Amino acid sequence: MIHSLFCSRSVSVLLCLLFAVAAPGALAQVPDSRAVTAIRTKAVVDVENGRLIEGAVVVVRGNRIEAVGVDVQIPAGATVIDLSDKYVLPGLIDAHTHELITPDYASNNPILYKSIPYRTIEGVAAARATLMAGFTTIRDIDSEGADWADIALRDAIEDGLVIGPRMQVATLAISITGGYMNNDGLAPQIDVPQFGALADSPAEIVKTLRQQVKYGTDWIKLYATGTTRHINLENMEPLPQFTDDEIRLVVSEAARFGIPVAAHAYGGHAAHAAVEAGVRSIEHGMLLGDATLDLMVERGTFWVPTITVYFPANADAKMTEREKAITDSHRRVFARALAVGVRIGYGTDAGALPHGDNAIDFAKMVEYGMTPAAAVRAATVVNSELMNLNNELGTVEVGKLADLIAVDGNPLEDVGVLSRVAFVMKDGIVYKR
Ligand SMILES: [Zn+2]
Repeated sequence: MIHSLFCSRSVSVLLCLLFAVAAPGALAQVPDSRAVTAIRTKAVVDVENGRLIEGAVVVVRGNRIEAVGVDVQIPAGATVIDLSDKYVLPGLIDAHTHELITPDYASNNPILYKSIPYRTIEGVAAARATLMAGFTTIRDIDSEGADWADIALRDAIEDGLVIGPRMQVATLAISITGGYMNNDGLAPQIDVPQFGALADSPAEIVKTLRQQVKYGTDWIKLYATGTTRHINLENMEPLPQFTDDEIRLVVSEAARFGIPVAAHAYGGHAAHAAVEAGVRSIEHGMLLGDATLDLMVERGTFWVPTITVYFPANADAKMTEREKAITDSHRRVFARALAVGVRIGYGTDAGALPHGDNAIDFAKMVEYGMTPAAAVRAATVVNSELMNLNNELGTVEVGKLADLIAVDGNPLEDVGVLSRVAFVMKDGIVYKR
């Protein structure tokens, strides 16, 4: 960081703070607060209400939306961007990504074969691809053993050093020895770092959680259940990794710092206990029971289903019995969650899927019974609520941050158009045109 050059011990803290604000300002891509841009559109998508505002003009001043509507006057001296053949909607949000892994992670173990600096550079490339795909905000829901690289990436984007979506991050996920996020299969005498922070007692849970807070995490990610290989196919019960008391401890300790918890939880007792304990979101959840879905409605718990990632990468491959059981259940649970009114967000597990393919889950959500409008709402309005950013993002509204994308077709009729984003503006800056 440039400002650290000025911050020797002989300089006062106040002076350092002044430089900290001033020095990176030269690098940061902060739009000139006086600059005015007017965007002509074929239609602005009102994602809250699932309708179009045809012929609307959006006026952006600096990094905020100043006016939206059909009768809006274009201010004198404004830069005009003509998107009059395109549909404009708010920047999309992916609430479940892993910028620090690539889809070959299972065959090319990044902990064994890649340095964390190299993984961080991969993260820079992933972030760029994600932004260019129209996803202007992401919740990167653990670094998969890349320690604090997600915090570095988040801050470097914020400081304007590299380009990417605005990020909330979860650093190291909390798991258990012998469960998920372990480097399995190596001889016991070989000691290697793990994919998650393995915590096997209340004291270890508190210790790792506080360390993550110290280094700047936005979320705590808890592996409440194991992974797919831990599902008992006889009764479809996933491995519960923590006791109910331990799950409550994670939520209450995170809450003391004002930090929300995201629980990787497929279903069964552990998912129910996580909802009861007050986690903000359930990730994946393809085995969630009816009582848990009902409790999620009661508690306002968000569900981020990540459907596509549980299908084989090769669409023509014959599914295993396990894959078939999991994906069939996902479809059933999705239908029930929709029927009872669970708050369903949008997330992909990008990283396990190629970065930049973040629009991949829209089609599955529609196939499973959501309207296109509801699927778009999940990736905008609902995710902005999940991330507590709904005052700033999620809709094209006066006063909100100018995160805007444009596509060639009407996404309320065909979510497929979201895979071909033609224009990207984040924070008032145009990144793709
Ligand atoms: Zn994930």
